[in-house]
Amino acid sequence: MTYDAIVVGGGLAGSAAAAHLARRGHAVLLLERIRFPQHRLCGEFLSGETQDLFARLGVLDDVQRAGAVSIRTATLTALSGGVFHQPLPAPALGLSRYALDPLLFHHAARLGATVREGAPVRRIERDGDGFAVSTDDETFRARHVVGAWGKRSGLDGSMQRSFVRQTTPWVGFKAHFEGDDLEDGIELHAFDGGYVGMSRVEHGRTNVCWIASKSVLAAAGGSPEAMLDGPMRRNPHLAARLGRMRRVSERFEAVAQVTFALKGTDADGVTMLGDTAGMIAPVAGDGMAMALHAAELAAPLIDGYLAGRFCRDDLHRVYAARWRQRFGLRLRLGRMLHALYVRPHTADAALRAARAVPQVGRWVMRNTRG
Ligand SMILES: Cc1cc2nc3c(=O)[nH]c(=O)nc-3n(C[C@H](O)[C@H](O)[C@H](O)COP(=O)(O)OP(=O)(O)OC[C@H]3O[C@@H](n4cnc5c(N)ncnc54)[C@H](O)[C@@H]3O)c2cc1C
Repeated sequence: MTYDAIVVGGGLAGSAAAAHLARRGHAVLLLERIRFPQHRLCGEFLSGETQDLFARLGVLDDVQRAGAVSIRTATLTALSGGVFHQPLPAPALGLSRYALDPLLFHHAARLGATVREGAPVRRIERDGDGFAVSTDDETFRARHVVGAWGKRSGLDGSMQRSFVRQTTPWVGFKAHFEGDDLEDGIELHAFDGGYVGMSRVEHGRTNVCWIASKSVLAAAGGSPEAMLDGPMRRNPHLAARLGRMRRVSERFEAVAQVTFALKGTDADGVTMLGDTAGMIAPVAGDGMAMALHAAELAAPLIDGYLAGRFCRDDLHRVYAARWRQRFGLRLRLGRMLHALYVRPHTADAALRAARAVPQVGRWVMRNTRG
């Protein structure tokens, strides 16, 4: 059989795209590398706009039933002890990716998408006007392919996407902790060379997720435990929090080569969504919303292409313009905030400026999300 669309990657962007396309009556195949549920590296903070995105997708009730907690305030701290605290522009949610990812994946299946877990895609090739998509065991055919495989995959290399040749210094870690209550707030603590987000998730747990330069990791002896006990505790607020918490995850999730490069909204005829097109710096806490949003932007255009209303080039021209218009400013602001927040003196200056002129802090928070 030839599918209308194959979606590669069943994270937020891929599952949402498959759901939107299946709901429009298309024959969709969603291929996911891993088997759910699994813990994923992520801050697990779902910015306010996700509530509307979940509602339009038809999963807001499921997300709430899965134990999502409400988050209403943000506290930012610097190594110097400086603090900036303010309400979020809209109530956000906290839910683990362990709970969220399978929920979205199975929602796509309920709407009619054919889904496969444990099916890593190895090759995407042109096949006439359509595509042949191969896993280890099978080759599937489709009229169109959506790329939603996240930050980095072997597929980026085989498609010769230029960002693959650039190396980056950024590594990330995450684990769940218990023992202290963040109430309804998210916290972002800066340390020298990185920052850590603490966000409540279901079952009274706190997700602790950080990004840092690999030189900080090397100086701490190469282990996330040593980073937590060493350079990160030089921030007094962070040291106080960590002192009251204990890790409940057996191991840390880790990622290297994190990039904030713009990767392109299409390549070789494939429509790219979420991190596959470009990831916002985690300091903004908006990557998951952008992934869901990109699926919502692309779905009607892919639908128009499949219905023969316009050609693939037009689909990609319009999608690229809408993507830039929707996400361009927040991506630039995210990169700027990241650069400020990983250096102690600029992080401190930024928090002092935000305290002195709270409108600036509010403007930045509003404009790093939809
Ligand atoms: C340190 C850090 C902290 C972050 N914190 C937050 C936060 O608090 N809030 C927030 O909103 N965002 C955060 N983000 C960003 C957020 O995690 C991403 O933007 C979001 O997950 C993007 O969703 P996605 O669907 O594009 O990719 P993913 O969620 O990565 O999904 C990609 C999927 O594709 C699958 N896949 C990969 N290769 C293949 C293949 N070859 N074949 C089949 N499937 C494949 C993967 O297994 C995965 O399921 C953070 C990022 C980092 C690095």
